[in-house]
Amino acid sequence: MYAVRKWSVSRARFLVAAYNKLEGVLTALDALWLKIGYDRVEKPITFIERHVKGFLFDCKMCGQCSLRDTGMSCPMNCPKELRNGPCGGVRSDGRCEVKPEMRCVWVEAYRGHQLIGEESSILSVQFPVDYRLKGRSSWLREVRKKRDKEFYAQTEPE
Ligand code: SF4
Repeated sequence: MYAVRKWSVSRARFLVAAYNKLEGVLTALDALWLKIGYDRVEKPITFIERHVKGFLFDCKMCGQCSLRDTGMSCPMNCPKELRNGPCGGVRSDGRCEVKPEMRCVWVEAYRGHQLIGEESSILSVQFPVDYRLKGRSSWLREVRKKRDKEFYAQTEPE
């Protein structure tokens, strides 16, 4: 819902803090996820993620979340699905050229970024969307990425 999406950007700072907490909990449970099997937990976690983020951000479940770097404004709500925006068509009042009934998601992203402060890296270039990940949990993906990073850091030759 558009009104909730705008509300979420206004609370970007709080939501990033909540996100960090959630990531900490999910990461701490990594051993449990491994025991159960990531393929098995994927379905229930994806279900929760889809509903929570669908309500708060109009999430499209792209599977590679960038909310933290886009001021808690989901770039997949851009009609052009631009991961690095805005395009050149933003109207002078900040509205979208394709859907003038809404503000450009990148104008919103910048608003959220200003509220978040240093922790938001809106200027970092986002990778193109990998559509093979669509519909999968980006929460679990982050946990696995973190574990792999730690694993490779430990096995790195000195
Ligand atoms: S970036 Fe992807 S996972 Fe994150 S809220 Fe948007 S659609 Fe959902």
